[in-house]
Amino acid sequence: MTVNTTSAVYLQQQMQGRVLTPEDADYEQLRRGWNLTINQYPSLILVAETVEDVVAGVRYARETGLGVAVQSTGHGLQIPANNSLLILTSRLNAIEIDAQARTARMEAGVVWGKVVEKAVPYGLAPLLGSSPHVGVVGYTLGGGIGWLARKYGLAADSVRSIDLVTPDGVLRHTSPTENADLFWGLRGGGGNFGVVTALEVELFPVTSLYGGNLTYSGELAGPALRFYRDWIQTLPDEMTSSIAVLRFPSFPQVPAEMRGKAFVILRAAYVGDDAEGEAYIQQWLDWNPPLSNAFHTLPFSEIATVSNDPVDPAPTFYSNELLDGLSDEAIDVIVQNIITNPTAPLMVTELRHAGGAIARVPADSNAIGNRDAQLYMQMAGMAPTPEIQAAVVAYIQQYKAQLQPYLRGNVYLNFIKGHEATSRVKDAFLPESYKRLMALKAHYDPDLMFRFSYQLVPLPVAE
Ligand SMILES: Cc1cc2nc3c(=O)[nH]c(=O)nc-3n(C[C@H](O)[C@H](O)[C@H](O)COP(=O)(O)OP(=O)(O)OC[C@H]3O[C@@H](n4cnc5c(N)ncnc54)[C@H](O)[C@@H]3O)c2cc1C
Repeated sequence: MTVNTTSAVYLQQQMQGRVLTPEDADYEQLRRGWNLTINQYPSLILVAETVEDVVAGVRYARETGLGVAVQSTGHGLQIPANNSLLILTSRLNAIEIDAQARTARMEAGVVWGKVVEKAVPYGLAPLLGSSPHVGVVGYTLGGGIGWLARKYGLAADSVRSIDLVTPDGVLRHTSPTENADLFWGLRGGGGNFGVVTALEVELFPVTSLYGGNLTYSGELAGPALRFYRDWIQTLPDEMTSSIAVLRFPSFPQVPAEMRGKAFVILRAAYVGDDAEGEAYIQQWLDWNPPLSNAFHTLPFSEIATVSNDPVDPAPTFYSNELLDGLSDEAIDVIVQNIITNPTAPLMVTELRHAGGAIARVPADSNAIGNRDAQLYMQMAGMAPTPEIQAAVVAYIQQYKAQLQPYLRGNVYLNFIKGHEATSRVKDAFLPESYKRLMALKAHYDPDLMFRFSYQLVPLPVAE
């Protein structure tokens, strides 16, 4: 069967949800995700209303030879899903909290903010990341580092079970005792093995924390990075933190008062005794008075205010590297590339302190690699046009070349996209885990139906 209007009608007849062709009025809006740098033209879009819709969609893609792309929010689109069946999960949004078992079961379209809303009344917290608008599935399949990471680990480590429709069109339950091979690979292996329909995760007893952010002028970037490097050596696992150096681009999209201005932002969350958390932050206030200080004791429901991530769809291109430490020379390269160069197309470099609970999980318990890395270094730029995106990509390349002597040569999956979602995937894993993932891929998806996520079998890709 080939993909044409007749076959779209055939698929629609099996659906409670909608099937859209490029001729449909809503196609234009639905083909784009949150990250506007990905310009994709799927052959068909399926807005799933039920798990049965997902099963029918995957079976249809099998019959027609279409690749399958999955999207809940579009925050993490890696590769344009052209000539595909794009399955949108955003309407699958049931959440069940089991307060006694301290778990949440979430359907595939759920975003983290909704889980926080449901869990907080029970005094419980999930391991979300910096933005409540990010989807639970994409985030968790790629690892999931958030403000509780050093205390409780990565989101992927909190997963109890996963339901998914595998490329053969079969709905499977995976857990430590059922389909354990898939359960292992799904936690860290990205969207390579099918469409996840539901995820069950552990929740943690956190009701409030001492958290927030400090902002300094960009002129202090070098000294602040040095202070941060030494400060994190003293921290207990209760403290998860990051430091970002950034220069806002002179784009009209940026508020006039910020255009071209450089800043350093310390972000942190302390889960424990507030006075202890405050004492660690006081060290920064003693070091240098900030331009602004937003640290306070906050209810877990306000966790998103630690990062204040952008909410509206944005054209962002990003990459990352992992580091074992931060030398003076590496700091100089960061400052030169983000702060000193006023025309740098790259906007921000953020270093997140890892370790703690992330590093205590046995290396083979799931697919996540590089548990011993000390710092996750993300670099991002706004890319409102293809020309600017090309400039950001080229700038990242030369930036990384300068940083090369100080890098581990590894990446974190959730912070790569574009050509790196093809070429750098193996650098996210231990060699033996990568081999195991490749074997799983060959077994469950030999035809590479799921080829728009981080590619375990690299294929050529246009940015
Ligand atoms: C503003 C912002 C803040 C972020 N903060 C953090 C952070 O603090 N920590 C962190 O670790 N990451 C963070 N990320 C990265 C984020 O985790 C990834 O981009 C993630 O992929 C987003 O998941 P999503 O479901 O929202 O996005 P989507 O674009 O909808 O999905 C991303 C990918 O996940 C896979 N996927 C999604 N749903 C399914 C499914 N049901 N079945 C199979 N595969 C699926 C697909 O491969 C898809 O391409 C952030 C990203 C943004 C834009």
